[in-house]
Amino acid sequence: METGPAENLETLWNQALNLLQAQLSKQDFDTWIQPLEPLATSGKTLEFRVPNHMFATWVADHFLDKLTHTIGDVAGFSPELRFICDPADPQGKLFIETAEPAATKRKVSSSRSPGRLIDGYEFENFVVGPNNQFARAAAMAIAKQPGTLYNPLFMYGGVGLGKTHLANAVGHAIVEHDPAARVMFASSDGFTNQLVEAISKNKAQEFKNRVRRLDVLIVDDVQFLSGRERTQEEFFHIFNVLYEQGRQIILTSDKAPVELDGIEQRLCNRFGWGLVADIQAPDTETRRAILERKAADEGIALPARVAELIATRIDSNIRDLEGALTRISAFASINHTEINVEMAEKLLLAVAPDAKSELGFDDIEQGVTQHFGLKPEELKARRRTKKVAEARQVAMFLMRRHMGASFPAIGQFMGGRDHSTVVHAYQAVEKRCRADQRYKHMVDTVAKAIGCG
Ligand code: ADP
Ligand code: MG
Repeated sequence: METGPAENLETLWNQALNLLQAQLSKQDFDTWIQPLEPLATSGKTLEFRVPNHMFATWVADHFLDKLTHTIGDVAGFSPELRFICDPADPQGKLFIETAEPAATKRKVSSSRSPGRLIDGYEFENFVVGPNNQFARAAAMAIAKQPGTLYNPLFMYGGVGLGKTHLANAVGHAIVEHDPAARVMFASSDGFTNQLVEAISKNKAQEFKNRVRRLDVLIVDDVQFLSGRERTQEEFFHIFNVLYEQGRQIILTSDKAPVELDGIEQRLCNRFGWGLVADIQAPDTETRRAILERKAADEGIALPARVAELIATRIDSNIRDLEGALTRISAFASINHTEINVEMAEKLLLAVAPDAKSELGFDDIEQGVTQHFGLKPEELKARRRTKKVAEARQVAMFLMRRHMGASFPAIGQFMGGRDHSTVVHAYQAVEKRCRADQRYKHMVDTVAKAIGCG
C-alpha cells in the first residue's frame, strides 16, 4: 500500500459509507452507521469505536452482514469487524464480532453451541400477562416435575411472543434444581443439521443414543421440520423412546399441532398428547411491563411516558418492542441526552410508521361520526344514547391507538372529559374487541376508513 494506514482506512471507510448510504434507509444510516468510528486495521481486522455495548449489539445483529460485505467489496477481502466500546460506557468492554453472522447474537457465546440452553432466558425475567399466563404456568409446573405431568408440552404462538424464552426457562429451572440433568435445546434446524451431520459421518447411531439418554429434550420451532421426512422419521423414534421412559419433551411452534402442514400425522398426534398451550400477543399493560423490566435490566432510564408511548405504538411483538427500546436508548447515549418523548416519537416513526403523524383528532371524529351517522357535536356533547356512547368509546380508542394521543388530551378534545373516562373507554373497547369478533370487525372497519387499519 502506498499511502499510510490511517489515510487508507479513512478512504476505505468513506467509500464504504457511500455504498452503505445507498443501501440503507436514512434513519438507519444516520443512527447506526454514521456514528461508527473506524479506529485501526491490522491484517484483515477492522476496528470501530461505538458509543456503548448495546449499540454494538444492535449493529452486529442488524448490519454486520451488510457492513462486512460492503467493506469487503471496497477492500477486496472479507474483513473481520470488531466493535470497541467507549470506556465511558458503564458496561463498556471489548466487544468482538467476527465476520461470521451466526456468531453475532447478543447472548453469550456458550449459547451458540449446539444443544445448549440460551443464557438469559429464565423465568425470573419473563414478565407474566394475560397473554402468556397459561403457558408460563404450564412451563413452571413442568420445571418442578419434568416428565410426569404433561408430556410433551407444546407451546405455540406468533413470532417474537416468548416461546423460545419460556422453553429455555424450563430447561434452566430443571438444571438449577438438578445440575446433573441432561437437557438439550435445539432449534428444528439445529436438530436437523446435527442429525444430517451425524448421518454423513456414519455416526447416526451415536447421535441417537445421545439424544435417547436425555432427561429433557427441547425442540424449538417444530414447524420447520415440515417436509423433512428423514428427520421426522428419526424424531418420531426418539420421541417414542423418550416418552416411554418418562423423559420430558418440550416443543414450540408457530401453529397448533392440528394446523401444522408437512408434518406426518403420527407426529402431529403425538405433539398433542400432553399439554398444548398458546401464547397470544401481549396487551398494552403487559407490553409496558416488559419494557420497564428490560430497561431496568439494562440500566436504561426510561421515563414512564416514553414507556407508555412505545407500548402503545408497537403492538406487534416483543422482539420489536425490544428493538424500539434499544434504538431509543442508543440514540440517547450517542447524543449524550436523556430519553424523552419527543426523541422517542421521532425514532418510533421510522420503526412503526403509520398515519399517526398526519392523523388528527378531527379525522377520527369525522370518520367515527360518519360511520355511526352522527353529527360531530353529538360526539362531544353530554347527551348520551347507546349509539352515541358507543361511538364516543370507539373514537377515544382510535385516538389512543392510532394517534398515540395522551389520555388527558383525548379527554380535552372530547368535550372536556376526565382522563379516567378515556382510560375506561380505551380498555372497554380493547376488551370487547378480544371477546367479540363482529365488534372488532366494526372497529377495524372504522379505522381503515380513516386510513389506519
Ligand atoms: P418467539 O420464540 O416466540 O419468537 P422469543 O422467545 O424469542 O419469541 O422472544 C422474543 C424476545 O422477547 C426475547 O428477547 C424474549 O426475551 C422477549 N420476551 C418475550 N416474552 C417476554 C416476556 N413475557 N417477558 C420478558 N421478555 C419477553
Ligand atoms: Mg423462537
